[in-house]
Amino acid sequence: MTQPHHIIIAGGGTAGWMAANLLAHQLAAHPVRITLLESSDIATVGVGEGSTPTLKQFFRELGITDEQWMPACQATYKVGIEFRGWSPQSGIDSYRHPFISQLDSYSERPFQVNCHTRRLGLDVTTRPDKFLFNSYLGQAGFSPSTPPNFPFRIEYGYHFDAALLGAFLKQHALHQGVEHINCTIEAAQTHPDGSLKTLIDTKGQRHSADMFIDCTGFRGLLLQQTLKVPFEPFAANLFNNKAVVIATAAPARPQVETRSTALSSGWAWQIPLQHRTGNGYVYSDDYLSADAAETELRQHLRVVDGQAEARHLSMKVGQVKQHWFKNCLALGLAQGFIEPLEATALHLVQLSINAFCKHYIKGNFTHQEADAFNQYIRGQFANVRDYIVAHYKLNTRHDSAYWVDNRNNMQLSEPLLQLLDTWYRGKDLAAHLQQRHQHSHFNSTSWHCLLAGYGTFPPLAAQQPGGADMFSEHQLATFFDGCLLNFGPPLTASVG
Ligand SMILES: Cc1cc2nc3c(=O)[nH]c(=O)nc-3n(C[C@H](O)[C@H](O)[C@H](O)COP(=O)(O)OP(=O)(O)OC[C@H]3O[C@@H](n4cnc5c(N)ncnc54)[C@H](O)[C@@H]3O)c2cc1C
Repeated sequence: MTQPHHIIIAGGGTAGWMAANLLAHQLAAHPVRITLLESSDIATVGVGEGSTPTLKQFFRELGITDEQWMPACQATYKVGIEFRGWSPQSGIDSYRHPFISQLDSYSERPFQVNCHTRRLGLDVTTRPDKFLFNSYLGQAGFSPSTPPNFPFRIEYGYHFDAALLGAFLKQHALHQGVEHINCTIEAAQTHPDGSLKTLIDTKGQRHSADMFIDCTGFRGLLLQQTLKVPFEPFAANLFNNKAVVIATAAPARPQVETRSTALSSGWAWQIPLQHRTGNGYVYSDDYLSADAAETELRQHLRVVDGQAEARHLSMKVGQVKQHWFKNCLALGLAQGFIEPLEATALHLVQLSINAFCKHYIKGNFTHQEADAFNQYIRGQFANVRDYIVAHYKLNTRHDSAYWVDNRNNMQLSEPLLQLLDTWYRGKDLAAHLQQRHQHSHFNSTSWHCLLAGYGTFPPLAAQQPGGADMFSEHQLATFFDGCLLNFGPPLTASVG
């Protein structure tokens, strides 16, 4: 296949409009026409309100400032995630997985050394919250925007209203010259070689191009339904397949973290926006009915029936066998989904578009190049999946069959088994990850946050020689408290 001159994006959810913007921007120097088809009769999934710091790069690349887009999308800053109730038997009520900032280069090593010391049975500080600066911002509820003269870059992501973000991205893409057609695709025609040729809408209009991007959500209209690329579910080790969503009022002062609380058969998110709080319960219908899930979420939120509307959703968790097949690339829910525990979906969309654009610019459109792309993206999905799976595998809850079954589940990938083995044997996890090229979005410090946050340690040794605690030796508490003096609450006026 040669470098395409007309790309059709099917679907106008967040994935479709992100793709439209990045393609228009990154391929601006190339003679390529971009058309996005979306159906006003088919709703977007309407959830997906938390991001990783990768979204910051997305806006930066497009030249859009926080001040320009955050008010339009009722967005707030996110410095990480607070996990509550995932590992109660370890004596840990909650822990934080903050985004790792440049400032943490000072404390990441002491954190990992202390974790190693604790794995030898010595009693040292290992709570991730103590070692990583964004945790301090999260606890204080402070904005991560860096004050003038503060010498370190602070990483952050966002919370946002998904519908407003879609609308914002649409306007921006249209300004960049992306064509937009409102239509419902009904059928697709293929070339004799099996590649896509033309999409036909319900009014009989034909839409032809030489490359197609499937952003039609869970239905996967082009890649899965038309080109019959198989979908590989992750159900063996990610049990959750349903969600129930209820919005509540915005707090007077929104927190700067996503909160993730373990419930009886899954977990609930709490995402603070400027105009409301997004809440949802992600669960498995093998363990809980939709009614029971809604009741439990209402109890958790202290919201009575009738006070706030609940929306029930199904989730298709897994990934397609080939993300790029012939002249079709799938993005967003059409390429796969790993449940929303670490809010990585848009991160994977962005990664996929960037990788595709690199191929486009180099003119790499051979089967081998598509294979290399697929291997890379599938690896990224697998790495994220393993990190999420570990949250379930390592839980120490005993209150339901759901948690016990998750803990007893041995259907883990080989890399995850090896990683846990490295940890339990007290070996060097950072070196292990480096050797195995597992440096995905979740690096060694993120893994340490998870494992230490869960208290995945052996019992303490009878003899405690003392003097090995790098947290106190490096006076990290004093250092972080000093840094914190430079920050303050989010200035909501400037962002909304
Ligand atoms: C419970 C839940 C929580 C989530 N939380 C997060 C999160 O915190 N962070 C995160 O990054 N992600 C999250 N996600 C994922 C996130 O919602 C999606 O990745 C994101 O919204 C992109 O969706 P999409 O654009 O792929 O699909 P959709 O939003 O479903 O859009 C599909 C588009 O395709 C169009 N379409 C479909 N069929 C046709 C047709 N026949 N003709 C024309 N157009 C058609 C529709 O009109 C629509 O525009 C979550 C998902 C779920 C289910």
